[in-house]
Amino acid sequence: MGEFDLIAKFFTRDSQRNDVLLGVGDDAALINIDAGACLACALATVAAEKAGLPYPEGSAFAQTLARAAFNRLAAQGAAPAWLTLSLTLPKPDAEWLDEFSRALHAAAAGYGATLIGGDTTRGPLSATLIAHGLGFETSGRRLAPAGGDAVFVTGAIGLGLQDKSTADCARQHPLNEVPPRVNAGMAAAPHVSAAVDIRRSLAATLTDLLDPFELGADIEADKLPVVAEAKTLLGRRGGAKLLIETSDDPELCFLVPRERESEFCDDMAKLPDPCTRIGIVTGRRGVRVRNDQER
Ligand code: ADP
Ligand code: MG
Repeated sequence: MGEFDLIAKFFTRDSQRNDVLLGVGDDAALINIDAGACLACALATVAAEKAGLPYPEGSAFAQTLARAAFNRLAAQGAAPAWLTLSLTLPKPDAEWLDEFSRALHAAAAGYGATLIGGDTTRGPLSATLIAHGLGFETSGRRLAPAGGDAVFVTGAIGLGLQDKSTADCARQHPLNEVPPRVNAGMAAAPHVSAAVDIRRSLAATLTDLLDPFELGADIEADKLPVVAEAKTLLGRRGGAKLLIETSDDPELCFLVPRERESEFCDDMAKLPDPCTRIGIVTGRRGVRVRNDQER
């Protein structure tokens, strides 16, 4: 199967959108966008060939990729609309591509997004997905956390404790069930002082976000939403601290000024998945867990 056949078979679909003037098959895609809007772009790369690990499942690989790119876009209050894909494959494996492309198209369709182009090369398996969407217009101006802001987190944490490299490969891994938090990111956008996707850990993410403002956060151990797989850990002394310092979860974290909290909570309550208030921004640098020693 040549590259051209591969693209035609797995990546060319009728556009889901009427604003795509040129899509897969041309030198560049052309999108008709509203000139008054702001275009948000976010990308994620997953490189998966690692010594000693099984070759990743196509569908899990696509889900990991889409979730990462969509969550980054969602943190800016935007939903994915147009996707481009850079794909490096060791060989054109039709079965794998079938699984991968189905899962990718399905993830996109969930938001009315469509793949409009990409590039395919040969080499160790790796993919980069660029997600574009129309942004919330004040997104760029809203990174202004302040002491007293409430800290919220989507979903639950703890799945990211396991070895992420094997998680990325496994069809059965519970991470595959975690949806991108696009709806939460969009609903949160008008209310938040900051929104970020969790990178490395919740504590590292909050530290990176708050330290430049000479702020920190107090997290309440008994408020932390934790996946069933990590519940026993939470019961142990120091367990909550370990969770927020080491678990790398595909969730979003929001900071919400006190005066916006009730509206924020009303909007979040309309969504199927939880968004939980876990603590507060303080004038002391660093991230602390409260009540942990009493467990
Ligand atoms: P080039 O020789 O310019 O690299 P390609 O044969 O790679 O051209 O690409 C042909 C068309 O297929 C282009 O429109 C490109 O955007 C699209 N395409 C290539 N790879 C992908 C992919 N992985 N996903 C979606 N579209 C792709
Ligand atoms: Mg190419």
